[in-house]
Amino acid sequence: MMLNGKVAVVTGASRGIGKAIALKLAAEGADVVVTATSQEGAQMTADEIVRMGGKALALKVNVADSAEVAALFARTVENFGKVDILVNNAGITRDGLVLRMKDDDWDAVIDVNLKGTFTCTREAVKLMSKARYGRIVNITSVVGEMGNAGQANYAASKAGMIGLTKSTAREFAGRNITVNAIAPGFIETDMTEILSEKVKEGLMQQIPMGRLGAPDDVANAVFFLVSGLGDYITGHVLSVNGGMYM
Ligand code: NAP
Repeated sequence: MMLNGKVAVVTGASRGIGKAIALKLAAEGADVVVTATSQEGAQMTADEIVRMGGKALALKVNVADSAEVAALFARTVENFGKVDILVNNAGITRDGLVLRMKDDDWDAVIDVNLKGTFTCTREAVKLMSKARYGRIVNITSVVGEMGNAGQANYAASKAGMIGLTKSTAREFAGRNITVNAIAPGFIETDMTEILSEKVKEGLMQQIPMGRLGAPDDVANAVFFLVSGLGDYITGHVLSVNGGMYM
């Protein structure tokens, strides 16, 4: 177990990719702080970790609210004494064509996906800098690299996360804090469940490996970056997309 003694915070870990990441880090020995927008959602993943024999703390946190984010890190330190790993995974979509996109749809997506990643990072690096150790992984998207009609807000937030990743990586490399992004392609979760069969078939044709990804495909990449095996990697965007974007 390569993460024994480590403390990880995973945002948006009630379901989908975040849940798979939380379970993987716990299976490798980390104590995990699981967050979601509801206490019940976070608690379900935390309970699963405890049943596996691990330690977990469930917290209701809206990552778009910087006061709630500050409280998340204070509670983490109270419970586990430190933060070694932060995975900024919480994310939403509010799709629509540019001409029809409302200000609210733009703001909500930028606030959760981009500002949420920034505020969590800002709190984490305060603690990690003092400890001179930290591993941050930001879950961006292939859409941030390629663009996608109907997802201007989401693509902008995810491309912004890449700039944030590289800038933070440069600022904190000297403190032994690595900051990387993972850009998943299309992964089978609630977020992609809503796509029509026609859209899914269209997507499949763009994926050389001929299948959607699984949440564990992303969780394994996160594990690699935070495990010690990826210690000399920072400011990198790792594609987990079946070849969809090269
Ligand atoms: P999902 O199944 O919709 O889960 C989203 C998670 O984010 C949930 O745990 C949700 O909590 C949480 N969340 C939403 N708004 C939040 C907020 N304001 N504050 C805190 N947590 C919040 O999504 P997913 O497919 O697993 O996606 C996870 C991440 O991967 C996202 O950043 C997404 O953009 C990215 N991604 C996904 C795909 C894909 O194909 N699925 C591809 C590329 C990138 P609740 O349960 O409480 O709502």
